[in-house]
Amino acid sequence: MKLVILDRDGVINQDSKHYIKSPDEWVPIEGSLEAISLLNKNGYTVVVATNQGAIGKKLFNTTTLDKIHKKMQDLLKTKKGKIDKIFYCPHIDEDKCLCRKPKNGLMRKISEYYGISLKKIPSIGDSARDLEAYAKSEAQPILVRTGNGKNVEKNKLFPSNTLIFNNLLEASKFIIKME
Ligand SMILES: [Mg+2]
Ligand SMILES: [Zn+2]
Repeated sequence: MKLVILDRDGVINQDSKHYIKSPDEWVPIEGSLEAISLLNKNGYTVVVATNQGAIGKKLFNTTTLDKIHKKMQDLLKTKKGKIDKIFYCPHIDEDKCLCRKPKNGLMRKISEYYGISLKKIPSIGDSARDLEAYAKSEAQPILVRTGNGKNVEKNKLFPSNTLIFNNLLEASKFIIKME
């Protein structure tokens, strides 16, 4: 199967220091919904792997998270796109869980769920911890210059085989062309 793994905040939607705590705060980055739809159209299953530590901090609950994700999927539907499944870590560092990126528990869950190896699977993020988690699963790390991305690029906080693009749409076009 053709799979693409995406971080959420700073890749699909605008990130905020104060976390995305409500559907209203969830605002797509220009071109990101079109990018997911384009991937779908070209036969890619798109999944999200996201740290949602604000749940562990009790800033919002999973019911609200579901509402945020419903907004994301509803907006995607208007572009004929869809995220197949959303894998999230609700923990904070102190929980010492195995899924909070840069740990690769979410990647393992994705691998188990689809029954495939994640080797070389295009995996897109805007933070060092995303790329680190991707590299641990031998996926192909891709950095976008949205969200934290420019900072990560400037400070060279990425695995040496990382590919870098301006945004999700450019990265997606490259993935499709690379086949
Ligand atoms: Mg992010
Ligand atoms: Zn976790």
